[in-house]
Amino acid sequence: MSYHVNEKGYYGGFGGAYIPEMLYPNVEELRQQYLKITAEPSFQAEFDALLKDYVGRPTPLYFAERLSAKYNTKIYLKREDLCHTGAHKVNNTIGQILLAKRLGKTRIIAETGAGQHGVATATVCALMGLQCIVYMGEIDIERQAPNVARMKMLGAEVRPALSGSRTLKDATNEAIRDWINNPVDTYYIIGSVVGPHPYPDMVARFQSVISKEIKEQLLEKEGRENPDYVIACVGGGSNAAGAYYHFLDNENVTIIAVEAAGLGVDSGESAATSALGKIGVIHGSKTLLMQSPDGQITEPYSISAGLDYPGVGPMHAHLFASGRAEFISITDDQAMQFGLQLSQMEGIIPAIESAHAFAVLDQKQFKPTDIVVINLSGRGDKDLNTYIDYFKL
Ligand SMILES: *Cc1c(COP(=O)(O)O)cnc(C)c1O
Repeated sequence: MSYHVNEKGYYGGFGGAYIPEMLYPNVEELRQQYLKITAEPSFQAEFDALLKDYVGRPTPLYFAERLSAKYNTKIYLKREDLCHTGAHKVNNTIGQILLAKRLGKTRIIAETGAGQHGVATATVCALMGLQCIVYMGEIDIERQAPNVARMKMLGAEVRPALSGSRTLKDATNEAIRDWINNPVDTYYIIGSVVGPHPYPDMVARFQSVISKEIKEQLLEKEGRENPDYVIACVGGGSNAAGAYYHFLDNENVTIIAVEAAGLGVDSGESAATSALGKIGVIHGSKTLLMQSPDGQITEPYSISAGLDYPGVGPMHAHLFASGRAEFISITDDQAMQFGLQLSQMEGIIPAIESAHAFAVLDQKQFKPTDIVVINLSGRGDKDLNTYIDYFKL
């Protein structure tokens, strides 16, 4: 049994490409080209060189000694927080911009919610000298002023989405509309393992460098390639997909996916998609999705902007439905407390998204001999104001 995508673009019953007919040529071009282009030696060489010298890979696999002593198990942190721009997202935008260039595209569009993917996209557009337009909900533009400033500083144009709830899903609609109107010169960089096939698989492949490195680093440090547990937070699911990728089909490795419970799974203010979601279509993909009984997408809530998403990518829907991964949800309070604890025990201030993954240590018992790898998806600089307000620092 494989947990990877099949030739039709499905993970079990999830995935596919549910798109308007007008978008079909763009997505089909990508589907036909992505494996061929990314397998070319010149592509791989350029991707690897940029990951090394621009992003700063390989990121360290750090043995967290004090944390390990407290929880009486062996805890390793995969330090994606040390990537250029402060999180894993840039692994994917580097891959997609190289693909866009080889497809002859000159204009890049993206959607962003909290602004992290917008910044990662604006960064690689500056690097390649390509025009960059980022769609962002008007409400998010107000809430995320520092990231808007970063994108502008990097030379991107930030276009407000003025319809609907004026947040991420409306920005996505605007980006899709733009792509339909500009099919020839424009490439759409999606920021997680979501969207129509081939995006989920393509993004997972670009992020899979995370688990490739974990294997090499564990072999060196522990004499074995595979951990007993790999733990990651899931918004759309890209850092998790990267951390799990090379362990998906090895059932000796237990996979734990951590979702944001917000104020509590049953509070009405949550983003715990596996617990609350039903099968539906979002952003061109059949997956688990929080929705009302008549199929309207429910507004999610989490204190961490990166986990505040009403769906999960189709890979994760399948990992949940098949039982391959264990899904745990963590509240705002549990994540915030762990953010403080990690700061003071290891001298690392995590992104609030990543702090959710760590909070599993308080929920689950591990054996002293277990090797537990936690993906530290990003650093907490962007969240400092939220930490300040929460802890009255
Ligand atoms: C965006 C983001 C996430 C959530 O996105 P995924 O696609 O689920 O990885 C998690 N952590 C950080 C630091 C982020 O910036």
